[in-house]
Amino acid sequence: MIRFFILFLFTTTLFSAHVERFRWDNGTTYLDFLQKEKLPIKGLYYNLDKDDQRLTEEMRAGVHYQILKDNNDEIKQILLPLNDELQIHIYKNNGSYHFEAIPIISTTKTQAFTLKINRSPYLDIIKETGSKKLAQIFVANFKHSLNFKIDLRKGDTLVMIYDQKYRLGEPFSMPILKTAMIEMRGKKHFIYLNKDERYYDQKGHEVEGFLLARPVRGARISSYFTKRRWHPILHKWKAHLGVDYAARRGTPVVAAGSGRIIYAARMGTYGNLIKIRHADGYETRYAHLKSFRRGIHRGKRVKKGQTIAYVGTTGRSTGPHLHFELRKHGRAINPLKVVQVTTKKLRAKEMKAFKKLREQYNKSIERTLLNNTKYKKAPKTKKVCYFFNKSCSTKVSTSP
Ligand SMILES: [Zn+2]
Repeated sequence: MIRFFILFLFTTTLFSAHVERFRWDNGTTYLDFLQKEKLPIKGLYYNLDKDDQRLTEEMRAGVHYQILKDNNDEIKQILLPLNDELQIHIYKNNGSYHFEAIPIISTTKTQAFTLKINRSPYLDIIKETGSKKLAQIFVANFKHSLNFKIDLRKGDTLVMIYDQKYRLGEPFSMPILKTAMIEMRGKKHFIYLNKDERYYDQKGHEVEGFLLARPVRGARISSYFTKRRWHPILHKWKAHLGVDYAARRGTPVVAAGSGRIIYAARMGTYGNLIKIRHADGYETRYAHLKSFRRGIHRGKRVKKGQTIAYVGTTGRSTGPHLHFELRKHGRAINPLKVVQVTTKKLRAKEMKAFKKLREQYNKSIERTLLNNTKYKKAPKTKKVCYFFNKSCSTKVSTSP
């Protein structure tokens, strides 16, 4: 395995240890990782409950993780970020390794910049910020209303304001676009992220409108989406990155949106799994299926509402149900925020709140244009406690 690694190194007053930072490779599984690091597979995988096992499947290519080693190069602790809120913490205590899921500590900074279009909004945003994700979000939200190819000219103005999470002074997780303005042929076009986490134009009309159908008709929801949740009885952190629909075995499962099937086979704790890729970076997943409908296979195009499979209990599952996930650019999002809502129009009260928010955003855009603010890298965090035992008592600090 080729590892991309940077050593940032450290000595503390408590003990001598060093932290190595790595990048998770494409195709590497959590089990591969344990094997490579010679860590106990039984204790750190097979003895875990099914939810924790499921979490280990969330490791994604490109994610940076850290390993803390002592003087003898023995692994003391490992941090594996799963999403922007939760991470796996593997640590050695009393001679054996333990597994736990713990929250990620990060800070959020609002960034703003303006630029003159040179090549295309997509390429220019990447050049300015280094973020492909930000460029994708921008283009996806304007593509239904504007035609950049026809109307955009070199030298047109673009403004963007977004939130970026930082962990150890490095950008971390998906940036969140708050507002953007693009001026074409002297006319300004805006999008605003509203309180309901959807984008609207200056008139208060929703701009994106990705519509989803309920994947199982008339089924009861037995488990909701959560990125991280403290389980009061088990006394541990958990995540459920989808919605569970309880239904009888054999109940038809329909495609929540039109798209192309990119996976239809067994996959670990998911059991029989279908993945569908939709427009604008969306992907839906259907797990624990009893079977696939005849003719449903990888590469096939499906329409919204078309039956693709049948409810079952394959993989790690306690009873017949559909585990349904929605991802955008790879990141799990709550399907219930998107499901069965037609393009939204704001009601009077919501419109009033939206207009207030729009005013604030417009002021920020004006300020950015006046100052010609350039993208600023957040300052490196001087001392961060990120390897810790519960109360953060074992500190490993990093410095630039
Ligand atoms: Zn589930």
